[in-house]
Amino acid sequence: MRSDLWLAKELDRIWQGHFADVPRVNDVIIRFMGNWKTRLGVIKLSECQRHTLIGINGLLRLPAVPPVIVEITIAHELVHYAHGFGSPLPRKYRYPHRGGVVERELHRRGLGDKLADYSRWLEDHWFAFYDNICANGQRLRLAV
Ligand SMILES: [Zn+2]
Repeated sequence: MRSDLWLAKELDRIWQGHFADVPRVNDVIIRFMGNWKTRLGVIKLSECQRHTLIGINGLLRLPAVPPVIVEITIAHELVHYAHGFGSPLPRKYRYPHRGGVVERELHRRGLGDKLADYSRWLEDHWFAFYDNICANGQRLRLAV
């Protein structure tokens, strides 16, 4: 099982590898959260702007989910951070997703191939995986 500490290390690795030009201007916290059906990640800025919370779907702790899913989910939230959504950085766009700005930015940052793997896996496996986990109480309890 992937831990919150592992997640924090992944965030640092992806930030250094693909977002080194994006300043970390506040305290960025990342952790696994709920077992959401239709959302993999979320990014929120605290009112005082000193903290950003990146929440990752708790099901992504499970080893059955390929690492690329976690990687692109984190990178997706980092794109929002870079664009000034969920971060104190200047806002680059009016809306966080409109016009495919997240996907374009992921391509620009050398993550296009991984984004394709991510999209393919989600399309082929996500809902079956989700239903399978939720039909199994024991595994659901593990994933909180
Ligand atoms: Zn998003």
